[in-house]
Amino acid sequence: MKKWLLALAALLASLGLFLWWAVLDGAAPSRAEGVFDLGAYRALVAEDSAAALPTEIRVEFVGGSPRPAFAIQAGALGSREIAYTSFQIIAPTGRTIIDAPVDRALGEAMTGKGFSFSDPSYERVLAAMANATIIAVTHEHADHIAAIARHPAPQTIAPRLALTSTQRDALAPLAPEAALPPAIAAIPTLSLSAPTRIGPGIVMIPAAGHSPGSVVFYVKTSAREYLFIGDIAWAMSNITDLTARPRLLHWLWPAVDTDRAQVLAQIRALHDLAGTEPELVILPAHDAAYLRGLIATGTLTEEFVP
Ligand SMILES: [Zn+2]
Repeated sequence: MKKWLLALAALLASLGLFLWWAVLDGAAPSRAEGVFDLGAYRALVAEDSAAALPTEIRVEFVGGSPRPAFAIQAGALGSREIAYTSFQIIAPTGRTIIDAPVDRALGEAMTGKGFSFSDPSYERVLAAMANATIIAVTHEHADHIAAIARHPAPQTIAPRLALTSTQRDALAPLAPEAALPPAIAAIPTLSLSAPTRIGPGIVMIPAAGHSPGSVVFYVKTSAREYLFIGDIAWAMSNITDLTARPRLLHWLWPAVDTDRAQVLAQIRALHDLAGTEPELVILPAHDAAYLRGLIATGTLTEEFVP
């Protein structure tokens, strides 16, 4: 064979290997022990009386946009609907909000074509935040914290915020004119080095990987148990198929998956947990179709109460 032909073959092979590595490979490791310890979270809320436990989890779909499936799950084909959500945990002792999504302007700027937005839904989130006992977020990316930075009543929501310093420090660029209201800038932050009970039936768990400030919430209601996993997986199929986002995403958006090895381990751990604890409800923040399915079965309720 001619030399140039060999060189061309080698080049094409390397290119193919690179494309596989960048776009098609999202395989989780074969083992990941001790990543999520459900027994430890249960123990933290074991003393909570049944009467104090949350009774219901509600969800708002503030917006949505179609995404190519391969960007959500390496190697997947077609298109998937990404939802921008917020969750409300209803308990006799008060309400907890998890995730504070984008408003219309920020959502349009972030996503562009095909973006849909519900003004009434966003208004319900703002109202529920003002009436919540606790406002927390799964991580410090704009689509999970923007409604804190842009809330029309910063003085009202400030005392309710339960954020780590990493999460709080990401708020300022999202505030109107990048000026974070002083009441929010001055909040005390949580130092979260271990799973911590933040209310009856609610545990906040450090889970860096997708971002340095990522956390997971374990919630025990009177009916079942939930695990709010934020953006560890953008779709439930990442967990069932043991396949993460492609590496390409991190190169395009360096804030996504700052510790990819950790995300892959978490996906493996969630997959195993889904097998050993089939009644546990795993809640990825963005999987529109899966979350709507949970509404259909009564596992979630659509629309916040004020
Ligand atoms: Zn997100």
